[in-house]
Amino acid sequence: MSGGCIFCKIAAGEIPATVVKRADGMLAFEDMNPQAPTHLLIIPTTHVGSLNDANDAETLGKLLAFAREVAQDSGIATRGYRVVVNTNPDGGQTVFHLHLHVLGGRAMHWPPG
Ligand code: AMP
Ligand code: ZN
Repeated sequence: MSGGCIFCKIAAGEIPATVVKRADGMLAFEDMNPQAPTHLLIIPTTHVGSLNDANDAETLGKLLAFAREVAQDSGIATRGYRVVVNTNPDGGQTVFHLHLHVLGGRAMHWPPG
């Protein structure tokens, strides 16, 4: 737990979230401000500040595989979905605990804003 980190608190069950799946060292829950019909967040349950701080390639691989699994479970995989990792201020990161956004249920646009 990193003091004051909101996603660490969700992982610890100290603040509520709509959890959709748990796995070894990972959690998937609904984004409170969804940007698509399906908008889930995937986090490691131990604190990692951002993608820049993720030194363990195996953990990154597990997070990506978990994102795919959750997309499949959510029924968005066949039509398609987007996995986003906003990193640091220019990347649009606002919560500094590594997370993957899984967005689907509508067609995504490109380029992103
Ligand atoms: P980012 O801007 O990439 O750091 O994404 C942070 C995301 O976390 C945003 O999409 C927020 O809507 C979401 N968020 C922040 N606090 C919570 C919370 N307590 N429960 C669920 N989602 C949250
Ligand atoms: Zn944290």
